[in-house]
Amino acid sequence: MMTQTLGAIVWFAGLVGWYIIRHPFARRAKKVGVSKSLFDRPDLSILAFASLGLFVIPAVYALIGFPARLDRPFIPAVAWLGLVPLFVALWLFRRSHVDLGRNWSISLEIREQHTLVKTGVYGLIRHPMYASFFLLGLAQMCLLSNWLADASGLTGAGVLYAFRVRREEGLMLECFGNDYRVYMAHTKQLIPWII
Ligand code: SAH
Repeated sequence: MMTQTLGAIVWFAGLVGWYIIRHPFARRAKKVGVSKSLFDRPDLSILAFASLGLFVIPAVYALIGFPARLDRPFIPAVAWLGLVPLFVALWLFRRSHVDLGRNWSISLEIREQHTLVKTGVYGLIRHPMYASFFLLGLAQMCLLSNWLADASGLTGAGVLYAFRVRREEGLMLECFGNDYRVYMAHTKQLIPWII
């Protein structure tokens, strides 16, 4: 039976899964040189805001139930439904790391010998990792029964997307020129064939 506590446990397990997926890539990334970086205060603030919404606020809620004032009724069927975006998010998150390989960075960077990836999930959409954050936010909304924790994940993902994608695509255009332009013409940003 799905309960409020089980919903929070499942969400927390998803967070652990997220960390387990990222950890080896983050370790490997330290060994790859950077040839151009746009990592600055605005980008750091965007990352911090997204982390607050997708991890800190829901983790505080899942662990100590704060802010209980903003609790909403728990709906077991909705929490069950949340398993779908959670699993798809984790799958997509892993696939995008695997497909990007040594080109992955947490911030906006061009690695030494950076290559443009257009295969795997990147053959369908240009920002599968950001799409996985939206799915994670959706799962969070279904699994945690609190208005603040519900809204914070999608808001965090939305801010990351809204403030980063244009800069990121500008950087890719600067580095890969026409190759990236052609790639853009054949792909959408987040949802295949739609957005
Ligand atoms: N926006 C992408 C990647 C996020 S990781 C996604 O949502 O899946 C951010 C890093 O990925 C950036 O530093 C950028 O240099 C790199 N990057 C983004 N798209 C890429 C691509 N198609 N090929 C190679 N590197 C890419």
